[in-house]
Order: sequence, then structure tokens, then C-alpha cells
Amino acid sequence: MNEPKDAAARRAVKPVICYPVDTLPVPDMAAYHAARDTMTKVDELLVPPREAGCFTVPAGHFFRIVSVEGPQVGDLNLWARDNINERFYSGKTRALHGTHITTGQRMWTSFPYLRPMATITHDTLGWYGKDAFGGSVHDVIGTRCDPYTHNLLAGGQYHHCCHSNLTRALANHLGVSVAEAEPHVHDVLNVFMCTGFTRDTGQYFMKASPVRPGDYLEFYAEIDLLGALSACPGGDCSAEHSSDAAACYPLLVEIFAPDADYLGAASQPAPNGYDRSHGT
Ligand SMILES: [Zn+2]
Repeated sequence: MNEPKDAAARRAVKPVICYPVDTLPVPDMAAYHAARDTMTKVDELLVPPREAGCFTVPAGHFFRIVSVEGPQVGDLNLWARDNINERFYSGKTRALHGTHITTGQRMWTSFPYLRPMATITHDTLGWYGKDAFGGSVHDVIGTRCDPYTHNLLAGGQYHHCCHSNLTRALANHLGVSVAEAEPHVHDVLNVFMCTGFTRDTGQYFMKASPVRPGDYLEFYAEIDLLGALSACPGGDCSAEHSSDAAACYPLLVEIFAPDADYLGAASQPAPNGYDRSHGT
């Protein structure tokens, strides 16, 4: 390969952050914490291993994804409850916050809405940080395990990948066919999954999740939400996914309501202010 003479100089240029977040509206974490101090559990859903389930969370409520019984990762989809065309935008969330998200960061919705849909208010794995391999938890880089990639790489028909689990759960929830539900399933937040990119080849890697029963990731619902959570067939994702080989455990979703005073004061963020004329 012919390198130009100034190759070293070109490589030495310092990176700049694509999206400086100094002007991003800052979540009022003190207000969230005051509200969560008053909250009581109003509903829960146990998602069986290698399956998914749907749940709804009214704006101003909190929800937790809780590890129970054993280490297990979960693939989370979120939509605006009354308009599933507005959904979680993994790529833009990654561009704004980085490859993994934790307390104080947000899940953002798709165009043309681009507004916060959920804010992480507590993360019992917040201590993990970044490990020596560059791995961290709760990524927005890994899309989801799916039967198409599995078929491409290994052949066969495996029906309990997160993509299919989410599709079945959404179809059941909406009372539509899987063909109708499938296009609404989107790139996920990989809850509890420990992932990164290898330093030498830049490949996506996973390793055994540090999650243990009792750990949870907690969110504040900025808008009325419909959620779907899949208990990934990869279990703790220490070895493989897209098969029934891994030890898998259920995941618990808990919904909490704060005191009525806080609910009354909560306001939903407005959709993005761009006028959508695109220069025409
Ligand atoms: Zn999966």
C-alpha cells in the first residue's frame, strides 16, 4: 500500500466531538430524584427467557428492567404509545451520548420528532465504567440478534432471536400479523449487555455481562411509552446467541408512579422544532 509522505501528520490530527452536548437540554436530575423518592410500584411484567413482552408506561412514571434469577441481557424497543411511527433512534442516541448510556443520559426518538423519550435515572451497573478491553454496559451499537444474520452466517431457521421475539410480542400487543409488526421493530438498547469494539480490527465484541440478580436499569418516561423487552437467547452473552445453547433467565419490568403532585407537574417534551421544509 502506498502511503502518502504526510500520512503520519494526517493521522496525528486530533479528533473533535461530532455533537458537543453543551447545548443539549440538560435533564433536571434533582427533580427526577425528588419524584422517584415518592414512587410506588403499580405494575410489573415478567419476560420469560428467549421471549419478549410488551408494556406501557404513562409519561411521568418510571420503569425498571430488573435482573432476576441469573445474569441475563435484554433487548429494549420503545415507541410513543399512541404513534408507533415515533420510535427509539439508536443511531442518533449513540451520536449524542456515545456507544453506551447510563444515568443522566437519554433515549431519543426518530425523525421528525427527535425528542427525549426516556431518561436513565438509576443504573446499578454504573460502577462498571469501561473495562481493559474497552467494554461497557447498556450499548446502543449492537442492533439486536436476528434470524436473517443468523441465516446468513450459519444457515437454518432460528425463531427466538430478539428480533423475532420483539416482533411476536408487538404483533400480539397490537393484534396484528407478524408481517405488519416486523417493520416497527428497531435497533435496541442492549440492557445489561457488555460490549465494545476490538482495538485492532474494530469488530463488535461481547463478553459475559457483569449483571447479577437485583441489578436494575431505571428510566423516567418523558412521553407515554409502549415498550417491548426481549430476554435475549444469548443469556449473559458470554458465548453465543441465536441458539438455545446459553443459560437464559427471565427479566422483570417494573412500573412505578410518583406522587400525584409530581405527575401533575410533569410536562412532555415537544417534538423537534425544525420546520420540515428542507429548503423548498
Ligand atoms: Zn438478542
